[in-house]
Amino acid sequence: MPEVCATCTSPGTRTNQGISCDGPCEKTFHFKCTKTPAAYQDIPAGTGLTWVCDKCKHGRNDSKLDKLLVSLASIQKDLKDVKTVQTEVFDSLNFYGGKIDDFGKRMDNFQKTINSVQGVQQDVQQLKKECENLRAEIESMHQQQRMENIEISGLPEKNNGNLKLIMQIKMNEKTESDMKLKRQLIEATDAVRQKFNTIKSNRTENLMSLEKIYEPITKPLNVISAATVAKLKIDNLPSVTETSIPVSINTSFIPLSASTPKYNSRSDTTEFYSPP
Ligand SMILES: [Zn+2]
Ligand SMILES: [Zn+2]
Repeated sequence: MPEVCATCTSPGTRTNQGISCDGPCEKTFHFKCTKTPAAYQDIPAGTGLTWVCDKCKHGRNDSKLDKLLVSLASIQKDLKDVKTVQTEVFDSLNFYGGKIDDFGKRMDNFQKTINSVQGVQQDVQQLKKECENLRAEIESMHQQQRMENIEISGLPEKNNGNLKLIMQIKMNEKTESDMKLKRQLIEATDAVRQKFNTIKSNRTENLMSLEKIYEPITKPLNVISAATVAKLKIDNLPSVTETSIPVSINTSFIPLSASTPKYNSRSDTTEFYSPP
C-alpha cells in the first residue's frame, strides 16, 4: 500500500514527490502540500539534515491536543445547540411576554369591572335604604289614615293594627256577602217566575170557565139577533149585514150594549124611510 499525503490524502507520484516528517508523527507529505520551498527537494539524503512538519515543529501534534480539539469541537457543537435552544427560549419568552401583556390588560379590565360592580352595589344599598324609608312612610300614612277617617264597622281600632291585612279580611267578607246576595236574588227570581206561570195558567182557566158560565145567555142572544137580522131583510131594509151582529165573550169581555147603537141607527133610518 503506497503511502499517501497526510494533508491531501493522495499518493505520491514521480512529478509530485513526498517528504517524511522526522518529528513524532512520522507522516509523509507532498512537497507542494507542505508549502516547503522547492530548493529543499534538491538536498541529497545522508546530509544529516532533518525536516519536521508544521504540527510537529510547533509541538501541537500530541494526543492530548487532539483530545482537546475533539472536546472543543464537541463544545462548539454544544454551544450551537445551546444557541438554538436560547433562540427558542427567547421566542417562547416573547410569546409568553405577549400573553402576559394580554393577561395584564385583562386584569385591568377585570379591575374596572369590579370597580363598576362595587359602584352598582353602593347604588343598590342606597336604593334599599330609600325603599325602606318609603315603606315606613307609607306604613305611617296608612296608620294615620286609619286613625283619621277610616271606619271599619265592627272592628275596634288597635295600636299597630295591620291595615292591609284588615282590608283583606274585609274584602273577603264582602265577597262572601255579595255571593250570598246573588244566590238570594236568583232564588227570588225563580220564585217570581213560578208564581207568574201559575197566575197565567189560572187566568186562562178562569176565562174559559167564564165563557162557559155565560154561554146560556150569549147563545139565545145570538139566536135572537140572527132572527132580527132575518126579519129586517124581509122588510127590505138595505145595507144590513150580519157582520155587526154576533155576540160573544172574548178575552176583553165586550158588553152586549156595544152592538145596540148600530141597531138603533138603522131603526132611525127605518122611521125616515117612507114606503111608496
Ligand atoms: Zn499532498
Ligand atoms: Zn510531523
